[in-house]
Amino acid sequence: MALRNIVTEGDPILRKNCRPVEAVDDRIRGILEDMLETMREAEGVGIAAPQVGIMRRMFIAEPAQGEVYYMVNPEILEESGSEEGEEGCLSVPGYSGIVKRPTYLKLEALDFDGKKRIVEVHDFAARVMAHEYDHLNGVLYIDKAESIQEVNYDEEESGEA
Ligand SMILES: [Zn+2]
Repeated sequence: MALRNIVTEGDPILRKNCRPVEAVDDRIRGILEDMLETMREAEGVGIAAPQVGIMRRMFIAEPAQGEVYYMVNPEILEESGSEEGEEGCLSVPGYSGIVKRPTYLKLEALDFDGKKRIVEVHDFAARVMAHEYDHLNGVLYIDKAESIQEVNYDEEESGEA
């Protein structure tokens, strides 16, 4: 595994639509492993491929320590609920914002082994996945946030994605 550079806001890569992954092969698995290492190094809870400069539809979420979801070619099948909450983004360092997100998501995706899975998540995990899913369509949380503030690093809670 290797750390990758995280692309930050202002780079046009973050504003593009990602293309589907054609096959979950060793090359894709290698990128996913790098993404996980990069996300953990940055103390994030999620990371999408475009954040490391890969324009493919895949992301990782780790809403609780050790609870890792590899989501390749994800599709949202159902969503419900709505809740405001604070979020940050590894690609927008130094800021956080209040964003409305669904409290329930049902998604279909390929996992690390290329197997099709149905994933149902609630609350914080749903927030993380909604945030990452947006990255695949060139959308950042700052586009949706009701307010954005600079983070005081003394008080920062881990929760960037
Ligand atoms: Zn993000």
